Amino acid sequence: MSLFQGLRLLLKDLGGCKEMQIDGKTRLYAVLGNPVAHSLSPAMHNAAFEFLGLNSIYTACCISAEKLEQAVAGFKALGFSGGNVTVPHKTAIIPYLDGITDEARLMGAVNTLYWQDDHLWGTNTDGPGFVKALVETYPEALEGKNAVLLGAGGAARAVAVALVQAGIKEILIINRSRDKAQALIGLLADLGAQAWETGWDDPVAGEAIADSRLIVNTTSLGMEPRKEEAPPIDYSRLLHQVVVDLIYKPRETLFLYRARQQGCKTMNGLRMLLEQGVLAFERWTGEKAPVQVMSRELERWA
Ligand code: NAP
Repeated sequence: MSLFQGLRLLLKDLGGCKEMQIDGKTRLYAVLGNPVAHSLSPAMHNAAFEFLGLNSIYTACCISAEKLEQAVAGFKALGFSGGNVTVPHKTAIIPYLDGITDEARLMGAVNTLYWQDDHLWGTNTDGPGFVKALVETYPEALEGKNAVLLGAGGAARAVAVALVQAGIKEILIINRSRDKAQALIGLLADLGAQAWETGWDDPVAGEAIADSRLIVNTTSLGMEPRKEEAPPIDYSRLLHQVVVDLIYKPRETLFLYRARQQGCKTMNGLRMLLEQGVLAFERWTGEKAPVQVMSRELERWA
């Protein structure tokens, strides 16, 4: 952080940093999803815009599935400078965009919208954000070259592809819907990884969990308000692994609590949320994102 930026942060804390004015030149950004009222992205990105003195605002638009095509047309026509896409539109939005990156194509989902040569493009920063968060917190997590993934939904796909791109060679997927796990295995095999799947109570699952250096929960089990839920794995097989939950509300899920009790190193989804936002922000603005400011904002609201 430069001296100037440090001073700005201090002034902001003291209430002395001038609030940004919205005028005819203000650049617009938004997250498109449904629901979006709970989204932390507006707080995170507006804090970054304000801190860097960028004349930009970020808002949230609640869009129904039926209105998604119109919403993208409106986004383009109104000249939005960029944005994000969240549940349930991450895959459905793809046909309405002018192009998507290879990353988004592999992950089958878009979470970031940006302009390139007057065309609206989609990319996916969820997977790379996850790996960045993991490597910066527990670099040893990737050393075993293997991982167990609980879940096979959209987030699992992004995380699995990014893990393979980061060097993971073997992945076991445990998911309620076995067909979704099978589909993900096919994709990972195409990327050169050895992937297989099992049900929750298969003894093979316990063996793989015991052998793996990294266990990631990508299911929504344990997310608020259903905090009493947890993936039905054999927790006695957890011992000293790196255990990650993509959920950040609550900060410590029952899954992470049990893993911590077993002596595991744990991480929740807040850092991933931060890093995917950092990557999106830098793509839109070409500026280095003020990571500390964005992190502090997430910590405040999460
Ligand atoms: P999704 O596509 O709907 O996938 C949900 C996953 O949870 C599926 O694997 C689903 O299994 C499983 N699941 C749900 N209820 C279950 C139950 N009762 N028993 C067993 N499995 C169950 O959702 P997603 O977009 O992947 O999101 C998953 C989680 O990741 C959410 O908690 C979300 O908040 C979190 N997330 C966090 C970040 C971040 O930045 N930290 C980013 C993205 C997502 P089936 O396939 O059998 O339905």
